[in-house]
Amino acid sequence: MLTHKFKLSIFLATILLCVSCQNDGLDQEGLNQEKQSLSKEATATLNYLIEKGFFEVDLLPDFKDEGFMHGDIVIPFALKGNIDKNSPKKGNVQEKNQWYYNGNGVYYNNSRNIRYYIESSFPTNLEYALSWAAYHWSISSANINFSRTYNRSSADILIGTWYNSNEVAWARAALPDGGGNVGSWMRVNTAKNHAGGESTMALLIHEFGHNLGYLHSDQYGGGQIPGTNGPSYHQNNNCGSVMKSAVYTCNWRFSTPSGWSSDDRTSITWAYGN
Ligand SMILES: [Zn+2]
Repeated sequence: MLTHKFKLSIFLATILLCVSCQNDGLDQEGLNQEKQSLSKEATATLNYLIEKGFFEVDLLPDFKDEGFMHGDIVIPFALKGNIDKNSPKKGNVQEKNQWYYNGNGVYYNNSRNIRYYIESSFPTNLEYALSWAAYHWSISSANINFSRTYNRSSADILIGTWYNSNEVAWARAALPDGGGNVGSWMRVNTAKNHAGGESTMALLIHEFGHNLGYLHSDQYGGGQIPGTNGPSYHQNNNCGSVMKSAVYTCNWRFSTPSGWSSDDRTSITWAYGN
């Protein structure tokens, strides 16, 4: 009997040891991340974003993707540095678009032909929804045109994946870099059950929206595009904008017309023209 108890206590002690080992491992990882310090340009961007009304606590640095994580949006570390240059690589950055507004906002350029490249990792059953997402953006304004390219090096946006079952985000996209380019990538989290239907299309329209410079309609930070409703309205209206942080299928269909809300239309026209 005593032997059994002894064995049991050794067994339990071993389990406890293992659990604490794991915890130590996680803590160490957390510490290592904190130790990595922001570059000069990332610090300048962070200060700029705070000045524009973002909260520092919402802007987690992601060193791998060289940007600040803001929900499913990645804001490039280099943003501020690029904005300061008056020579964007392509087209002209409009003064009014320079992070002046957000909420239901935009930062970007006079757009043109945006070429996206689909990485081999991207699930083929989502390609149909992706092509419709590109189509709906393409017909939204005479100054926006999305097309697929098979030449990776000529692409403006790389469409890829990542896998993390612990993350809330179903997809993620990079914002424009401030130099006149659209956000350079969009990824779907393959740990989520993407149906590939119209709900997936709505999600991908939302992510392309980030690439074009639109932020979340239901979140605060900075200003607001004239003529649109503010974050509190969008928090209470699931179909008020495709740029709501949680994406609803609403009127989005694999057909025309597009499902843009009134606020979406106003935002597109304001930034890109009809
Ligand atoms: Zn988003």
